Amino acid sequence: MGFVVDPPEIISLPVKGGGSFPVNNIYCVGRNYAAHAVEMGSDPNQEPPFFFMKPGYAVLNSGSEMEYPSESSKVHHELELIVALSSGGRNIAVEKATDLVFGYGVGIDMTRRDLQSTAKDRGWPWEAGKVFKHAAPCSEIVPITEIGELNEASISLSVNGEIKQKGNVNQMIWKVPQIISRLSKLFGLHPGDLLFTGTPEGVGPINVGDRIAANLGSVTTLEVSVISI
Ligand code: MN
Repeated sequence: MGFVVDPPEIISLPVKGGGSFPVNNIYCVGRNYAAHAVEMGSDPNQEPPFFFMKPGYAVLNSGSEMEYPSESSKVHHELELIVALSSGGRNIAVEKATDLVFGYGVGIDMTRRDLQSTAKDRGWPWEAGKVFKHAAPCSEIVPITEIGELNEASISLSVNGEIKQKGNVNQMIWKVPQIISRLSKLFGLHPGDLLFTGTPEGVGPINVGDRIAANLGSVTTLEVSVISI
């Protein structure tokens, strides 16, 4: 007996230099930059970062059109370094965590801010705010073998040519090896897992017709345009 329904398609991101990275689980870090925690009304000294997830169908490749999601009139961009894992494991030490990294890219944690705010107020889970088709636009993945470990790199995002977010990955509260170590202890990690590492300050709204561009230093870029469903 084979599958009784068709198995889901493999979701993937292009790799610089050739090939595709198959996306498995998508883990995201919340409030990993102090200035963003403050703009969202939190005290980064009181509340450490935390995790949430997005499904694979949220992934949108660079150069594509992003459908503005249903049920929201306040969708925000969150510019983030993304990390693609080549291997997994449990209880990974911080010192060994970089061994799991296949490569890096830049992504946008698109957020229905209105639904997220309601969820926060009522103590509900965040899925309504964070999960929808095209909620995770991603650049190509650039292998670590090409660029080395990325401890410092500027990231920026523009809407219609105007810079809205600017930061450096060295401002993250939890650095990439710490994120990997914590995820491996909490959940266990798997090859193909993709990490969204949190956003610097300057999050703001997107609208139908906008052209959104993001870049990770001189490493890679991401571009999407927003359309109505
Ligand atoms: Mn985020």
